[in-house]
Amino acid sequence: MRDIRITRDGVAGRITLNRLPELNAMTHEMCNAIVVALDTWRSDPEITLVIFDAMGQKAFCAGGDIVELYTTGQLGNFAYGQNFWRDEYRLNAKIKGFPKPVISFMQGFIMGGGVGLGCHGSHRVVGDSSQIAMPECGIGLVPDVGGSLILANAPGRLGEYLGTTGARLNAGDAIMAGFADHYIPEEKWPVLIKALGEKGDCRLLFVAAQRPPEGPVTRDKDHIDCCFSGDALVDIINVLRSEDTPFSQRSLKALGRNSPLSMACEIEMIHRLRGTTDIRKALELEYRFTYRAMEHGDFLEGIRAAIIDKDRTPHWQHQIDEIPLVAVSRMLLPLGAAKLTFEEVRMKIGFIGLGNMGAPMAAKLIKAGYQLTGYDTADIAIDGMVQGLSAVDAVTDAELVITMLPNGSILRAVAAKVLPAMRSGAVFVDCSTVDVDSARAVAKDASGLGITALDAPVSGGTGGAVAGSLTFMVGGSDDGFAVVKPLLEIMGQKAVHCGPAGNGQSAKICNNMILGVTMIATCEAFALADKLGLDRQAMFDVVSTSSGYSWSMNTYCPAPGIGPNSPADNGYKPGFSCDLMLKDLRLSQHAAQAVDADTPLGQVATELYRRFVEDEDGQGQDFSAMLPRFVRRGRTE
Ligand code: NAD
Repeated sequence: MRDIRITRDGVAGRITLNRLPELNAMTHEMCNAIVVALDTWRSDPEITLVIFDAMGQKAFCAGGDIVELYTTGQLGNFAYGQNFWRDEYRLNAKIKGFPKPVISFMQGFIMGGGVGLGCHGSHRVVGDSSQIAMPECGIGLVPDVGGSLILANAPGRLGEYLGTTGARLNAGDAIMAGFADHYIPEEKWPVLIKALGEKGDCRLLFVAAQRPPEGPVTRDKDHIDCCFSGDALVDIINVLRSEDTPFSQRSLKALGRNSPLSMACEIEMIHRLRGTTDIRKALELEYRFTYRAMEHGDFLEGIRAAIIDKDRTPHWQHQIDEIPLVAVSRMLLPLGAAKLTFEEVRMKIGFIGLGNMGAPMAAKLIKAGYQLTGYDTADIAIDGMVQGLSAVDAVTDAELVITMLPNGSILRAVAAKVLPAMRSGAVFVDCSTVDVDSARAVAKDASGLGITALDAPVSGGTGGAVAGSLTFMVGGSDDGFAVVKPLLEIMGQKAVHCGPAGNGQSAKICNNMILGVTMIATCEAFALADKLGLDRQAMFDVVSTSSGYSWSMNTYCPAPGIGPNSPADNGYKPGFSCDLMLKDLRLSQHAAQAVDADTPLGQVATELYRRFVEDEDGQGQDFSAMLPRFVRRGRTE
């Protein structure tokens, strides 16, 4: 995904925000991608900590994507915002409760959604450019994303002050108020992030941390405690009006700009939450407000004035000292069935094609905790999998569908049935090896239905599928790749984005042409060695560490009893069948013809596997069964 980079840096899972023109403001897609990454890293023993950082100097993250919220809300579609806030708040709770260290490096503006991402981890780093604020009352919302919990537990009456005025905190203020832990000069961050990935040792942060500069809010603390201790907004206003100090004048000016209803609710929320340490309680209360914000609050008017028309003269529903108590309680009433809940919601996956490769791949996802509904025409069951009654049954309600099928025409037939049954916004990932044209045709059909399709064929064979060490070569959009990458990394060790739709298959075809050729060469060499009286083990010992080595020799040795366990040790039962190798070689030659590429060895390999499968006894055997074939033959046969 362009807007966010999700990578592994050594032992660190790293999430880098990269939406520079919008000051890294968070979208729903970014939120979903982070959830998938965290869910994956939670149980990954190779990831020992998580790092959040951001591109650009202006902002770590200046909030959420409010323009989209406004656009949908204006059309009376309140569900869009409600769903976005719900998923964002669940993410905030996930970060706070994450069982491994979560470290954030926050430069520039950190506001709203940025606080939700960066200020709930275990190690929160700020620098000289950091400016943290919760200015939501200025747009008719309340400080949310769990910010109300930090405000409620800030020293003295700081929470009421920060939540209603939206005042900005520098590094020293942020640490004092509980939004950050460490002040570290920003020029040290890149080296520190690298060292965290290499060593996984959070103590590096304590070593690098320095005493922060004191901030203006810290200097105003006595004034704040004195003026912001009233029971309700109106009490605070009265005290500020009765004092005639630069602080009271500045504060009244700030309060005068913001939504009175939001500020009154904010004071009430802070009072209700003071003393609690449970972020879920805070988020649940915040959601009561945001759920109603478009329909009953000042939110749409606030965005209009600040962002859309930019006239900065919002027409709020109430005057600052005339807010009926009932208006506050109405915004904060329990939501009943719509209440925000935090049960672990795992992505629902449909999986079609549970053969030699599909079954172990599906098992890996089930083990990682995903809800999986599978379907195979051969009626294959897997522990922990819901068995679908049909392909369509397996994909209904799924957010992600994976296929692992024999060839392109079966893929096209399955896709024609399941794509129309999938929900819009879902992702379709085909991991089979098929022709480039089929991959591109399926991607085109999917796109017309609002579904993101990726081709993600694999290398690594059944052994790799069982061990979870496959390599995925992926064709499709950046955004789609970002969503599926963490899942592919559960089933494999590596996922490479090869470009637009079809490019995964192009990479696969080239790889398997090399594989077919090297397997034939390896089998020929063993047969020759036999006839020269060279012991197979001696031949393996030499070649596996010499320039003739290859995956066919070292990992999938075609000679029984030699090298690691392979189909040769199991009577050449596939594994990867000759039929599938012939299919892949034909795909390579078909593609080579289409683009006029000269592939003489690919041509010969195709013809050899064709003869073996169609004229001899290769059908149904593993593709390494070329070895007994060569052994049986003489030079002229
Ligand atoms: P397989 O024949 O063992 O599995 C394919 C499965 O698809 C079978 O169980 C079959 O019943 C099922 N199927 C067929 N038509 C179906 C339909 N219409 N609906 C639902 N299920 C259907 O093959 P495999 O070895 O698992 O390979 C699958 C894909 O992976 C192929 O495209 C292959 O080229 C590729 N691949 C295989 C290997 C390997 O080592 N086996 C390695 C890399 C890639």
